[in-house]
Amino acid sequence: MLHTTYGTPHLGNLADPTDELVYIILSRKTRESAYRAVFAQLRARGTWEQIADLSEVELARVLRGGGLEAKKARALRSALGSLRDRFGVVSLEGARGLGDDELFELLCGLPEVGPKSARCIMMYSFGRTTFAVDTHVGRVLARLGTTAPLTGDLTSHDHKRRQQLLADAIPPDLRFSLHVNLIVHGRTVCRAIAPQCDSCVLLHRCGYGQAATPR
Ligand code: SF4
Repeated sequence: MLHTTYGTPHLGNLADPTDELVYIILSRKTRESAYRAVFAQLRARGTWEQIADLSEVELARVLRGGGLEAKKARALRSALGSLRDRFGVVSLEGARGLGDDELFELLCGLPEVGPKSARCIMMYSFGRTTFAVDTHVGRVLARLGTTAPLTGDLTSHDHKRRQQLLADAIPPDLRFSLHVNLIVHGRTVCRAIAPQCDSCVLLHRCGYGQAATPR
């Protein structure tokens, strides 16, 4: 139903895993238009090999306008340096042969990459059938309650715990489209404050929505 409504759109994530890693580091606590602009600035500055050779101060200068420049420059240098140490080049391409668990562990070991970001890189750029739970995905599924037989009541758990519980609960063939369409649904209809249950295509399946909607 969500696929019929939203069509599993492209959300701007990047097919190249190294690009996506950098994109995620730049996106921390930053509005989308700003980190997109900074990513373009960075791309125009050189290859990832060349970027990795910049000093922290030089890198922070390139990142100007995206916020938290010093922190992001440090994280970026460290992440790109880790790739060079591990693979001999500043690229995640060498990780394509790793199994899911090993890849997840590698990504989570990089600065500013937590379990959700690691799963996003795995899903969007490595084509793995993992399930990333961002804040919208977790909120909508908690309200819907459809995974309760497998995960229990998600409303009583924080976001981190929801990610752990949901990671394996969604069938592999549904993971990508469900992730993308739930993000769109959470941004536009099932918002954190004042969800639009009246016009929601999932209202007939949603106890939370039915309880909140006067009849
Ligand atoms: Fe969210 Fe309301 Fe739709 Fe349920 S009915 S999914 S709470 S918008």
